[in-house]
Amino acid sequence: MNATAHQTAPQPVAPAAFDVARVRADFPILATQIHGKPLVYLDNAATTQKPQRVIDAVSHYYEATNANVHRGVHTLSQRATDEFEGAREAVRQFLNAADAREIVFTRGTTESINLVAQSYAREFLSPGDEILIGAAEHHANIVPWQMLAKSRGTVLKVAPINDAGELDMAAFERLLTPRTKLVAIGHVSNALGTINPVARITALAHAAGAKVLIDGAQSVAHANIDVRALDCDFFAFSGHKLFAPTGIGVLYAKADLLEMMPPWQGGGDMIKTVSFEHTEYNDIPYKFEAGTPHIAGAVGLKAAIDYLQTLDFAGAVAHEHRLLEAATRAAGTFPGLRPIGTAREKAGVLSFVIEGLHPQDLGVLLDSQGVAIRTGHHCAMPVMQYYGLAGTARASFAFYNTQDDLDRFFKALEKARDILS
Ligand code: PLP
Repeated sequence: MNATAHQTAPQPVAPAAFDVARVRADFPILATQIHGKPLVYLDNAATTQKPQRVIDAVSHYYEATNANVHRGVHTLSQRATDEFEGAREAVRQFLNAADAREIVFTRGTTESINLVAQSYAREFLSPGDEILIGAAEHHANIVPWQMLAKSRGTVLKVAPINDAGELDMAAFERLLTPRTKLVAIGHVSNALGTINPVARITALAHAAGAKVLIDGAQSVAHANIDVRALDCDFFAFSGHKLFAPTGIGVLYAKADLLEMMPPWQGGGDMIKTVSFEHTEYNDIPYKFEAGTPHIAGAVGLKAAIDYLQTLDFAGAVAHEHRLLEAATRAAGTFPGLRPIGTAREKAGVLSFVIEGLHPQDLGVLLDSQGVAIRTGHHCAMPVMQYYGLAGTARASFAFYNTQDDLDRFFKALEKARDILS
């Protein structure tokens, strides 16, 4: 008898190769009409659309499970707790974190960064200590450090970008000194699409004795994230940019740091015992989750992660990259169009201006043709100041976009230009 033929373990079913038409069918909103035209959704950097699986998971949670977590002995409360903690474990696996205790649920990237500022940095940084960021950061990775500087006397340093929108790594290294205690850096710029070399940045920062926070708002949906391989100390992201609901996000932090950090909000769930004289705080991660969390959001986030695992994710990323390349080529031949952000390593974003046309007018005219893009400063005003612009128009891609979307976008752009000029 051929032993191996019978004793080989069943192979896991490989996810189907990436099929954009099939994937689009999973997102009901993509079949919507806007002003009588089929929607072309190119505002994915602002928020992504939700697959049916996420929508169903959230409504099923409210139909069958809804209760408060952690405190109840009744069945629904236990189910809600299991689902909420199951979501934490799904995020742990998704990020390849070592321990589910390293996953703190927040409202999103903004809250995650504020948590690090108001807990870690407020407690462990001293007046004169430096926080180093990049010049293309989102306001969420600028303002919390300015607030800290005001109250704590820390110093905010900014590593410049070059005209392509790439971080000037030589300048970054010069600015990294023994005074630098924290490097906070966007993985992917939402305004320009630049991918920052976060693994290298983390290694350099650690060699200089600084901790590293990665703002992953724009990278989680476009790359495999492995926080252990990156070795970052903190990683922040928002569920809604990963096909999950708004109002739920994550702060990953190494367990030893979370253990050291004081809570930043007080209330229910973050305590073990309370008296008027003394409060004993809860264990991590609950110490950082005061009050009733967004349970349905966490359930939706797990559903989004589960959904992504049914896809050929590498195929999805490659598809998205082909779209970006095609869009960049087409933009290069569009009269008067100036791309803003031409880094060698980019993900998912085509930011641009057109000579003589206001981005907002473009956005309104594109919307009238069913094409959703974003216009303005993209919560990255210093980037706009660098390029001497009030704002740009930005088309941003997800794996459910198609070449047809691009064709319709450029046709709509031509029409808008003809109307406006
Ligand atoms: N960081 C980056 C790079 C972003 O693009 C965004 C949102 O656009 C944020 C932070 C803030 O995310 P949220 O508003 O979900 O907290």
